[in-house]
Amino acid sequence: MAEKDKKKIRTIKIDVDKCNGCRACEVICSAFHANPKYSSNNPARSRIRMIREPIRDIYLPVYAGEYTAAECMGRDKYVLDGKEYGECAFCRAACPSRDAFKEPDSGLPLKCDMCEGEEEPLCVKWCLNEALVVEEREEEAEPEAKPEDVDIAMQSLIDKHGMQKVLDTAARLSQKDQQ
Ligand code: SF4
Ligand code: SF4
Repeated sequence: MAEKDKKKIRTIKIDVDKCNGCRACEVICSAFHANPKYSSNNPARSRIRMIREPIRDIYLPVYAGEYTAAECMGRDKYVLDGKEYGECAFCRAACPSRDAFKEPDSGLPLKCDMCEGEEEPLCVKWCLNEALVVEEREEEAEPEAKPEDVDIAMQSLIDKHGMQKVLDTAARLSQKDQQ
C-alpha cells in the first residue's frame, strides 16, 4: 500500500502552574501584529489573552482559535485543582457573545497564526517561565482526491476529438447496445 504523506502540526502547550500572569505574551503578540509591526502594543490586539485573578491564584493564558458565527448553547464552568474557572474561560473562539479575540477597531475576529514568518512563536520565546511550549507532531495528510481512471480517459478523448464528437459517439454506441 502506498505510504500516506505526512504533515507537521505545531501547537502550543500551556502549563498553567508555571504562568505567573506577567502578560509578556500579550505584549509581544500585540506588538508583532501591530501595523506597522512593533509600532504599538495594545493587549486587545493580542491573539493570546490572560485570564488573571491574583486573589484566586488564577493565571490562564488562552490563545485564539477559530471564529464562530453563532454563540454556543453551553456555558460551562470548570473546577480544576480546586480553582473554579468562569464561563467560557477555556474557549478559544471569537464569538458574537463576547469581545475576546476581536480586533478593537474593526471588530474582525483574531486568530493565532503561530507568528507566521518567525522561527519560533514569540509568546513562547518571551515566556520566561516556560508556561508555553511548542509541540510538534506528524499526522497523516488526507490524500488529495484523485480523478477516477474513467474521468482521465474521457478527458483525453474530449481533448483529442472535441466534446460534441464524444457525445455523438456515446449516443450512437448506446443505441447500438439497445438493438
Ligand atoms: S504564537 Fe504568535 S500569534 Fe499565536 S498567540 Fe503566540 S505570539 Fe500570538
Ligand atoms: S508570558 Fe508566560 S508567564 Fe507571562 S503571562 Fe504569558 S504565559 Fe504567563
